[in-house]
Amino acid sequence: MNILFIGPPGSGKGTQSKLLQDQYGVVHLSTGDMFRTAIAQKTEVGIEAKGFMDRGEYVPDAVVINLIRDRLKQPDIKMGFILDGFPRTEPQAVALDQLLEELGLKLGGVFFFDVNKDLLVKRLSGRRTCKNCNRVISLDQLGTPIANERCQKNPVGPCEFYQRDDDRADVVEKRIDVYQKQTTPVIDHYRKNKNFVHLNGAQNPKEVFKLIDAKIRAS
Ligand code: AMP
Repeated sequence: MNILFIGPPGSGKGTQSKLLQDQYGVVHLSTGDMFRTAIAQKTEVGIEAKGFMDRGEYVPDAVVINLIRDRLKQPDIKMGFILDGFPRTEPQAVALDQLLEELGLKLGGVFFFDVNKDLLVKRLSGRRTCKNCNRVISLDQLGTPIANERCQKNPVGPCEFYQRDDDRADVVEKRIDVYQKQTTPVIDHYRKNKNFVHLNGAQNPKEVFKLIDAKIRAS
């Protein structure tokens, strides 16, 4: 099962990826998470990506494509994968088509998460992310049992939540604008795919998961 999630920041791609990962044991490939790890480890890619991310801009295509090319060649990809946040531009979509062909891989589902801008701004500026496992909760869940669940990357304690720099109000607007300009053509690129699904991402995450799961089971 190889799946693609396309949608604006805050549309629920990461949340659904984690649910699918738990259910099916597939690999979650989030280019945003990969860049944040690279930044924390101060690698060359991390240093290059940081300025773009802080400004809410996209990292150059060549950098992202190389990152994904290397990752898709790892052996765990055979378990199936979810691509979350890649491709985000037309050249990235073309590069992915070529790469999948080269590796003999196929996409079993392309899910487009549609959410209006007001809700995205509300969700992004109110979300908190675990600095270890990248789990996301909303501000009003802090202090509740959901927030205190054990962290998957820190077996001795709960998640440690923080606000991502790019989830601050001024950067959020910019990220949504960049998405609208640069990622809209990617949706059209996949619309003709027979496994393309247009989801209402404003629904409750459990409802969204039911729809995705039903589609996966049917295909
Ligand atoms: P995300 O966690 O998916 O919201 O990504 C955070 C940031 O990482 C984005 O705002 C971009 O700066 C960068 N990024 C992640 N994926 C890509 C991509 N496919 N193309 C370009 N930049 C990306």
